[in-house]
Amino acid sequence: MSDTDTIFAKASGAGRAGVAVFRLSGPAALAIARALIGSLPPPRDAKLVKVTCPDTEQLIDEGLVILFKGPASFTGEDVVEFHLHGSSAVEAALFHALLTLKARPAEAGEFTRRALINGKLDLAQVEALADLIDAETTAQRKQALGQLDGRLSAVAEGWRARLLAISAPLEADVDFPDEGGVPAAVAARAVPAIEQLENELAAYRSDSAAARAIRDGVRVAILGRPNAGKSSLLNQLAGSDMAIVSATPGTTRDVIEVKLDLGGVPVIVADTAGLRDQTTDDIEREGMRRAMARAEEADIRIMVIDPLTEENSGEPIEAGAMREGDFLVVNKLDLRGESEAAVGLKKYNNIKDVSRVSLSAKTGEGLPEFVGRLTEAVGQRTSLAGDAALTRARHVRAVDDAVMHLAQAKTHVTATPELAAEDVRMAARALGGITGAVDVEDILGEIFSSFCIGK
Ligand code: GDP
Repeated sequence: MSDTDTIFAKASGAGRAGVAVFRLSGPAALAIARALIGSLPPPRDAKLVKVTCPDTEQLIDEGLVILFKGPASFTGEDVVEFHLHGSSAVEAALFHALLTLKARPAEAGEFTRRALINGKLDLAQVEALADLIDAETTAQRKQALGQLDGRLSAVAEGWRARLLAISAPLEADVDFPDEGGVPAAVAARAVPAIEQLENELAAYRSDSAAARAIRDGVRVAILGRPNAGKSSLLNQLAGSDMAIVSATPGTTRDVIEVKLDLGGVPVIVADTAGLRDQTTDDIEREGMRRAMARAEEADIRIMVIDPLTEENSGEPIEAGAMREGDFLVVNKLDLRGESEAAVGLKKYNNIKDVSRVSLSAKTGEGLPEFVGRLTEAVGQRTSLAGDAALTRARHVRAVDDAVMHLAQAKTHVTATPELAAEDVRMAARALGGITGAVDVEDILGEIFSSFCIGK
């Protein structure tokens, strides 16, 4: 596999279709296109052409061809797009011809890799492109588009540039020790600049949970005693008008998940094994352990309670996992009205700051209101995701690394500015990892631009 090969692939989805798009990229793309269609149209003009196999001289199909002359193309190389009829026979004939002409099938992601190598996209944009292709909800689409547009990249590059500007005067001590080292004033100025950046990084760090929830889905866990109506509630959620993206069945003892679209945000709702006060069954105990683990790691917990059971049972079930903003759902409203239910539920009154909802998972009564409140809760948890959010664990790690190096830099800045300079450079390098733009030349460039070497 070489980056100088000319590669091809079907860019549109699998299966038969009215039109399929095939893409060819690399140094021989235009020559190969000429062999297939004869004279070439000007770049970026769509032209109806006959595509003929040079080997068999048979017509493959008639369709549109568009040329993109590098570097003004997705990959930065010469690219040719064929919009042909989407049948397997056309595809097979085209691929045969392309192989004959010495192009090779692209590896997964190879067009994008070339775009990265040729500087058409940076790392954060490559990730955004992957997210956009995978986007299932409005919020996911918007977030991916913003990142693809380079908003996160611009922020990350801005941070890095500021760090290089902070490190440059500190570097002077390393590079020009004969000139008396770094004056205390320079070191003193570095500290507030570092602290301001630390604050900004911390803010981005804390908002990243919202951005990652949009990308990965807000996790909701349904818990409660056996027969409280957890599966019935999940089925109601899954069967209502909300778009279900997928349903993954498991065993009743395990965790069953349904993916919903609530207000444009992906939400993964998991039904968990019932919680009993005690059990001697190993499998059941394992199910409960998983249920509690799932509840702990969820963004929102929904505790389902059957008031009939509560009337006859003593202790409330383990509610330690419940957090502010979670839901306490009093089920079976069709059997016990709200006021009747309240009697058996007194023991749950000490769970504070949770939303209390009454509904019937059997008849659907109260369900729209519950879904509305759940949608609101999901919206609140994702509302902090800004335009240039840290959407992946990798970005968060880069910020964490930078924060760590900056904390070290502050401890060195007065006594050993050369160590502080190194720490700041490490922080810049960590942040440079977000876009993949890490290069020592940049740092040297910064130093040379702010100091007159040649004087
Ligand atoms: P889980 O063990 O918590 O998942 O509970 P299920 O959803 O399997 O429900 C247990 C039993 O309660 C089933 O027979 C359901 O039909 C019944 N059930 C669930 N919700 C309601 C409800 O709102 N009203 C009535 N009348 N029965 C319900």
